[in-house]
Amino acid sequence: MVRLPEPDVARDFSRRLRRWFRQHGRDLPWRRTRDPYHVLVSELMLQQTQVSRVIDYYHRFLARFPSLTRLAESPEGHVLEAWSGLGYYARARNLHALARTVTRDGGSALPADPVALRALPGVGAYTAGAVASFAFESRAELVDTNVARVLARVFAPRLAPKRPRDLSQLWRIAEAVLPPRGSTAWTHNQALMELGALVCTARIRHCTRCPVRRLCRTRIAELASMDVTR
Ligand code: SF4
Repeated sequence: MVRLPEPDVARDFSRRLRRWFRQHGRDLPWRRTRDPYHVLVSELMLQQTQVSRVIDYYHRFLARFPSLTRLAESPEGHVLEAWSGLGYYARARNLHALARTVTRDGGSALPADPVALRALPGVGAYTAGAVASFAFESRAELVDTNVARVLARVFAPRLAPKRPRDLSQLWRIAEAVLPPRGSTAWTHNQALMELGALVCTARIRHCTRCPVRRLCRTRIAELASMDVTR
């Protein structure tokens, strides 16, 4: 079992992260909404696809299918047509199936509870956490590839995010560093993902401009080894 960050370290980490995000976070359309359907569409489109490509698709898709109900009423072929060019069409099929599942019994809204969200087609643990946090401002943790990488580098460099057992430890860390209020957790989660996309990326680590470098075990170990070899 990995040792979880102490509460004061968790608070410091989150504060630094949120402060940085307020200055450097990108102004993205799905960050301006709390509409669960819009958030879900953005999250599914962002899986495997870059932000710059998603923005146009996101606007066009929502103009064509402005609600979950309208999406459910549309033929699958129309949904795939609107998705055409984004790739990974299982996402579009799942989204359509999800809309039909939610509206089948007269519903028109997504559930707020991550457990209920996970029962819907195509919704995994990350997407359920993202919709709960980004749409409903629930205190819900979320771990995608970027978040797993950042949390491992900062708190547990020995964990390998691709190993399922290690990934479950990273989910525990994600929960441990999450602020208690849902609205603050919204910023925290967005900031964590943004850090993984802009600063602590898979290809390069911009440690000198990273807001959490003083707490980061990877960075601290690196500096210590440089001192030793000098
Ligand atoms: S200090 Fe470096 S390794 Fe640590 S989180 Fe920041 S960018 Fe990543």
